[in-house]
Order: sequence, then C-alpha cells, then structure tokens
Amino acid sequence: PVLRVALMGLGGYASRVAEAMQSCERAKITGLISGTPGKLEKWGAKYDVPEKSRYNYTNFDEIRDNPTIDAVYIITPNALHHDQAIRVAKAGKHVICEKPMAVNAKEGQEMVDACAAAGVKLLVGYRMHFEPNTLEVVRMRQSGELGKILFFQGLSGFRIGDPNQWRLDKDLAGGGALMDIGIYAVNGARYMVGEEPVWVTAQESKTDPAKFKDGVDETIQFQLGFPSGAVASCLSTYNMNYLDRFFLNGEKGFAELQPATGYGPIKGRTNKGELTQPHVVHQTVQMDEMAGIILDGNKPIVPVDGLEGLKDLKILDAIYQACSTGNKQELKLV
Ligand code: NAD
Repeated sequence: PVLRVALMGLGGYASRVAEAMQSCERAKITGLISGTPGKLEKWGAKYDVPEKSRYNYTNFDEIRDNPTIDAVYIITPNALHHDQAIRVAKAGKHVICEKPMAVNAKEGQEMVDACAAAGVKLLVGYRMHFEPNTLEVVRMRQSGELGKILFFQGLSGFRIGDPNQWRLDKDLAGGGALMDIGIYAVNGARYMVGEEPVWVTAQESKTDPAKFKDGVDETIQFQLGFPSGAVASCLSTYNMNYLDRFFLNGEKGFAELQPATGYGPIKGRTNKGELTQPHVVHQTVQMDEMAGIILDGNKPIVPVDGLEGLKDLKILDAIYQACSTGNKQELKLV
C-alpha cells in the first residue's frame, strides 16, 4: 500500500516536498490544506488532487471523513504546528510535522499525548535521519570503528534576509536561529554521539537588535555533556553563511560532514577516506521511509517519532534557559 498524504501549508518547503514526492514509490499527495484558494486550485491541478480533498484552515477537521487521506504533513510556521497537529490527530489521521515539532517542550508533550490518545502516529520531518552518508557515519560509530566517542562539533547557520518574514517574528517562529537551524546541531549531536545529553551550557550574542527582536535569537553557542563524558560544542546563527558542518571525534577515528544538513549533496570524509554513499533527494527517501514506518511499523535506524522531537524541544528549552540565567542546566531525557 501507499501512504496517502495531505500537505498543509503550501509555502516554500512544501513546494520542495511536493516535487520530491513525485518520485516516491510508497507515498503520494492526495490532499491539500491552504488558506489561499488560488493555491489550492493551482496545486490541485498540478498534483491531481480533486476538489473534495482540498481544505482550508477552518474546515480541515472534515478530513476525518475523507477515506483517501492517511496522514497530514504540517509544513506551516513553527508556532502553528501544535494546534494543527492536535486537530489532525483528533480527525484520526497520522501526523507528520516539520521541525521544530513545536516551540517548546510543553506544547510538544501535548502533541505526543494527543496523538497517543487518538491512536495515530506522530513523526517529525527530520530528513537527515534517512540520508545515506549521515547513516554511514552512524553505522561506523555504532560498529565501534570510531572507537569511544569523545567530541562532536555542530555548526549550523545562514545569513537571513528579509527582516519582515515569519522566521523573525517570535509569535510565529517561537524563537530565532536556534528554533530554525540550530536545531540541526542539537539533533545531530544526539544521533552522531549516540547518547542523550545530561547537561547544557549556552551563551547568546546579538549584533543587530533591530532585526533580531526580543525573543528572536541571532547567535547562540551551546555545549552539551553526555553520560560517557563526551562533549559537544555547537553554534547556531542567522548571521553567517557557509555554516553547515558536523565533526565527530572518537579514540580510533573521526568523521566530518560538510555540508552536513543542506538539501544536498551531503559530502564528508572520515579517517578512512571520502564518504561514498549515494546522493539522494532527501524528501523522496524520507517520505518513502515514513510510509514504511506508518504502514508497516518499520523502525528507522535513527528515530523520527514525536518522542524524538520532544527530546530536541527539551534541549532547546534548556539552551534558552541557560542563555537567560547564565547557568548550566541539567537534563533528564531518559
Ligand atoms: P514558508 O513561509 O515558505 O511557508 C509557510 C506556509 O505557511 C506559507 O504557505 C504560508 O502561507 C502558510 N501559513 C499558514 N498560516 C500562516 C500564518 N498564520 N502566518 C504565516 N504563514 C502561514 O515557510 P517554509 O520555509 O516552507 O517553512 C515551513 C515549515 O517547514 C517551518 O516549520 C520550517 O521550519 C520547516 N522547514 C523545514 C525544512 C527541512 O529541511 N526539513 C526546510 C524548510 C522549512
């Protein structure tokens, strides 16, 4: 069977997902949700989604009565994910939600609870969890080829443009660079090191308070400590280009990925040489794999479920807390 997906929020990233899904073997677009009637018409014609499977933000609860939709993929601004995911769950459909899953751990927990109560799955759009070169590094670490892991560095940033976009509006974004791009370093630290952090320290700096208003972080450096003694040092910023690099260091070897989380191709090398896994369209592989998770109960090598998203939100909360207090924050994720 094929996973029949309704896309919610027909913006920039949804366009990329929709194009990539044209090459999926196990997932297809069977519904659309948008506040713009013209987009519903245009996308409906392009992706062959009939009028009865097109919804707006007022009436999408009616998706409950649509047998041609199994799951809704939420691709709207961050602060909207929480309410939308809960409504989708209550309509009895599986939820695939873009990162960050929510804007804080409390809201994330409510989403996890709502999906559990409704008996639907909750997955987060962590496309790197299916990327072959990334998974090769995970395999090397798991097999012991890198030895005991000692250090991870994650650098995640880009220079953001238009000051009026929702990404710079606290009410819609939930924060700044950390919510949007720094989350890749947070999440990457966990799947690269292969442990859950037990403490975090963090420092914030801001060069442009007019563009990056209160509650919208421009640059945050943060450090994570892991139970084994491994440490991570990370940078999240909206003020630097060409910043997309992971470095993992172990007693017997290293791996570096650069770019590490861009749309591709992901490139990297280890102490044994270049990484040579195939370059794939991330969203095509992600949606095929998510079909297997939802329809067949497959277990991915690196999880993408709501609890995984929730762990990242707990770390984001702790990083913001560490920035505002200046104090080390203890974490209990397991
Ligand atoms: P975007 O601005 O291009 O699209 C957002 C869409 O949401 C627009 O179509 C907009 O009309 C719609 N929308 C609905 N209600 C809205 C409201 N109240 N205010 C503003 N817009 C509203 O943004 P995007 O880049 O597509 O990002 C959407 C989500 O996808 C974000 O959560 C983002 O973090 C995530 N994203 C993920 C990746 C990834 O690689 N996984 C990449 C880009 C974006």
